[in-house]
Amino acid sequence: MKGTFSHSILKRAIQKNLVEINIINLRDYAANKHKSVDDYAFGGGAGMVMMIEPIDHCITDLKSKRNYDEVIYMSPDGELLNQGISNSLSLKKNIIILCGHYKGVDERVRQHLITREISVGDYVLSGGELPAAVLCDSIIRIIPGVLNDETSALSDSFQDNLLAPPVYTRPANYKGWDVPEVLLSGNESLINEWRHQQSLERTQIRRPDLSDGNSK
Ligand code: SAH
Repeated sequence: MKGTFSHSILKRAIQKNLVEINIINLRDYAANKHKSVDDYAFGGGAGMVMMIEPIDHCITDLKSKRNYDEVIYMSPDGELLNQGISNSLSLKKNIIILCGHYKGVDERVRQHLITREISVGDYVLSGGELPAAVLCDSIIRIIPGVLNDETSALSDSFQDNLLAPPVYTRPANYKGWDVPEVLLSGNESLINEWRHQQSLERTQIRRPDLSDGNSK
């Protein structure tokens, strides 16, 4: 988990004090001497369930130290993560993200302690850490000051419901494969128009479900 935050853009964001990440070990809140945080499911069946007590103690302890805007549980049956959700979460101040394991958490955690449930896609992973890291990355990179060129996040895919246009860099010709002429023209308005057109086309071909792209 720590690895996600120890390189590149996220590392810099933390070093610049634009964001603070605290990784909490639920076992520190376990009541029993074995420090276990899971137990057998009532009603039987395969798979362990994460107990409510350590989770409640942990969340209560965190909340006694600062106010939280959201307590999010990463879950495959949650709201499907998209750019809009990341944009709105990037405006929040403090967020708790609960990562499940095994069969997930006792349902009463979800009913009483959680404010929001988010999924990273219609597939099941073995723990909530990777989904939480995905969520954190998508939120942190759009916090002002995190990316060097702040406008860069705005021109990424899914802002404005459009996919990003293709990008090229030097050399202008590689093995006879050319960069589109317009990008070398130096004419900013022509270039912007070309990029917008490419975005529209790409969205219509690859993700027609997004494409009230024309309404931009
Ligand atoms: N039994 C659950 C899956 C548990 S997977 C079910 O069928 O819905 C174990 C944990 O991994 C979950 O509690 C959740 O925190 C995390 N997880 C797995 N897949 C995920 C996904 N697609 N999105 C978000 N979290 C996920």
